[in-house]
Amino acid sequence: MTITPVRATSELTHLLKERAREIGFELVGITHAVTPTRLGQFDQWLASGFAGQMQYLEKRREAYEHPRSILDGCKSLVMLGIPYLYDERQRASQTVAPGSGKIARYAQCGADYHDLIRAKLKQLQAWLKLHCPTAKSRGVVDTAPLHEREFAAAAGLGWVGKNTLLLNRQWGSYFFLAALLTDIELESDEPMSTSHCGTCTACLDQCPTDALVAPYVMDARRCLSYVTIESPSLPSPEVAASMSGWMFGCDICQEVCPWNSRSKCTADSAWQPDSTTLDVLDVLSWDDEAFRARLGNTPLSRPRRRGLIRNAILVAGSQRLEAASQFLARILSGEEAMLRAAAAWALGQIGSEEAKTLLVSIKEADPYVQDAIDQALCSIESGVANSESSGLRD
Ligand code: SF4
Ligand code: SF4
Repeated sequence: MTITPVRATSELTHLLKERAREIGFELVGITHAVTPTRLGQFDQWLASGFAGQMQYLEKRREAYEHPRSILDGCKSLVMLGIPYLYDERQRASQTVAPGSGKIARYAQCGADYHDLIRAKLKQLQAWLKLHCPTAKSRGVVDTAPLHEREFAAAAGLGWVGKNTLLLNRQWGSYFFLAALLTDIELESDEPMSTSHCGTCTACLDQCPTDALVAPYVMDARRCLSYVTIESPSLPSPEVAASMSGWMFGCDICQEVCPWNSRSKCTADSAWQPDSTTLDVLDVLSWDDEAFRARLGNTPLSRPRRRGLIRNAILVAGSQRLEAASQFLARILSGEEAMLRAAAAWALGQIGSEEAKTLLVSIKEADPYVQDAIDQALCSIESGVANSESSGLRD
């Protein structure tokens, strides 16, 4: 029997989705390759400076206009979600003792999620090639100029919540997004056009740094995920003092979301947490080799050693961790100005006699760092260790 093109499209779409689920993509939906409708909001967001130092977003602005910039001739996007919340213990909100820094849930398994998801995308591509040999396709996760959340909502995977993340009724927001772009026409799903946030504002109310400046709008410069992972510099003193123990990323606007309190957990053991925290003093003691050995092939290596040590310093300062003083003294004599300024701020927050002695004794040639030292001493003198004038700057 000859299959009509429409029937063929429908059947191919159905089988492709089925295969995606078998591979482990719990969420699957399809949408057309079009120009995203929220590009205007993206432009406004960039113009407001909310992207911080993520200049690559601005540089690739044109590429965001259409998925064909990622795959020539792209007609359909298979939007995919992989949940990573493993069990109820992982769901529980973490309180950490001083000396520990929290890791965002998505990065708690010991492997790089990009590798795990790319391997699954390759399996799906191979299936498509087999059943439609002329089809071109490209799998992406995270790094392509694609408004993944908007396309995922268009493909019916969920809605973009006030915390700016994609929310799904069953899976909450603890899932990765990926996409398979193809130049063949597939049947589209109904978009999810309704928000189910209702009158809830928990994410806006609980964000420790007020990074959600309005519903659906995040100032990345204030967001601990950006501050601890993407940013190459120091946050404002106010943000630094509000680290809330987060060493890598932040999950608060997800933890407080009612859709995550009853979401499903994945049965895929690949996402089983390896460690949920990092030891602050341990991180402060790492050289390059120790950093590579410990975090080399995990998402935690993204901020590099310099960034992770900065985070450990900021957590030590915000926790007023006296045990970190000697580590901070060593960093204060090191080569990296940004880390010296961070160490000065942290010692100012600790505010002990030892911290004061360390700050007074240091000979500093860089005016930027000296300014941070002066401000830290000022904080100690005035006893306002948490003051916004305590010396950090971008
Ligand atoms: Fe705020 Fe943390 Fe959410 Fe960023 S990740 S918006 S800092 S609660
Ligand atoms: Fe929406 Fe409330 Fe979840 Fe924020 S916490 S994303 S407002 S449901």
